[in-house]
Amino acid sequence: MISNRATDNDKRGRIVANSIIYGPVPSWRLGRSLGIDLLSTKRKTCSFDCIYCQLGRTVHPEIERREFVSLNRLARELKTIEDVTADYATFSGVGEPSLACNLGEAIRRVKSILNVPVAVLTNSSLMLREDVRYELGLADVVIAKVDAPSEELFRKINRPFGKQTLAEILKALQLFRKEYRGKLALQMMFVEANESHATQMAKIAEQLSPDEVQLNTPLRPCAVTPLDIQQMTTIRAAFSGVMNILTVYEAQRPEVAPLNQEETLLRRPVEQRFAEEAGRGEVTKKTVEQEEALNRRIAEEERFREKVDEDGIRWTKVYFGGGAHFRNWLSQFVELKGGENVKVEEADSKGFQCYEESGEKMYRIWLRDIVPDNKENELP
Ligand code: SF4
Repeated sequence: MISNRATDNDKRGRIVANSIIYGPVPSWRLGRSLGIDLLSTKRKTCSFDCIYCQLGRTVHPEIERREFVSLNRLARELKTIEDVTADYATFSGVGEPSLACNLGEAIRRVKSILNVPVAVLTNSSLMLREDVRYELGLADVVIAKVDAPSEELFRKINRPFGKQTLAEILKALQLFRKEYRGKLALQMMFVEANESHATQMAKIAEQLSPDEVQLNTPLRPCAVTPLDIQQMTTIRAAFSGVMNILTVYEAQRPEVAPLNQEETLLRRPVEQRFAEEAGRGEVTKKTVEQEEALNRRIAEEERFREKVDEDGIRWTKVYFGGGAHFRNWLSQFVELKGGENVKVEEADSKGFQCYEESGEKMYRIWLRDIVPDNKENELP
């Protein structure tokens, strides 16, 4: 349990808007994870633009490190946290955390103020830098991304903005492995593009010898279809020579109550399951009637997944939400699947408190069935 007496009038559940701290969120890899967003830009800042990113397109491409959030602000916000149960404080958020040049000192501050283990999720792109390897080395857990076994797939899946090659990143990861005393986990995201390359990916995992390999597929809504359990089981089998494998379908997620739903949704966009999780967090603060209304709306949306229009065309619902995330996702679906295959429908926001209160509209995005998957190949 993390507990700091508030020095001002902040109370649990009243972390101010634009907080850099969000969650805790249920993480299949880290349990109850209290998120710290050292970038906290309104929209995504990243050195990659992964085709499966749950945050939509990269609005602020960055390859150089700089300060986004001051250490004083971080310390101030950390001191307002009371009575939160978290297994890890995790540097993640709206982009790549190692772009923040004060990451190392931020890790030190989080450890001294919250007294919980610290994890960092990184896309590995800045690992070539000695200062980044040193600062990541201060964390208890580093989860590093490797999604491709070849330069071609690296460019296709991760769409990096920098000039570094996959070979250079893998070399830097090897160096980090040798130096690092904490737990190194390798995250490998599988989508259609790399599904048939599991054996090569397993070879990379063997060479890097991490403490854990996390086999993932994008279950949160995005423009790429996740692989199903059977496909992931086949991929897992290719990793039989690798120790400590964790796959997204097998993992357990704990129940958690977020400190602030809005800040959490900003970093983990609206979708049915997450809305439900966030809704559970609200139960402690809402009246029973509000809770029931939310659950009713979530159940309604869950029932409403497919439709056939007047021309007999089948459509599948791929997104439900609003605000910047909706606009981001819409542009990504249109780019990947073609405008003629994407439909938008306004939805009733009744029961979704933050939308109701702000007057923000909610939308469903529908995708026409039988969209050729190789549309993705047409991306630049
Ligand atoms: S590295 Fe992470 S935040 Fe950046 S584009 Fe890829 S998935 Fe999104």
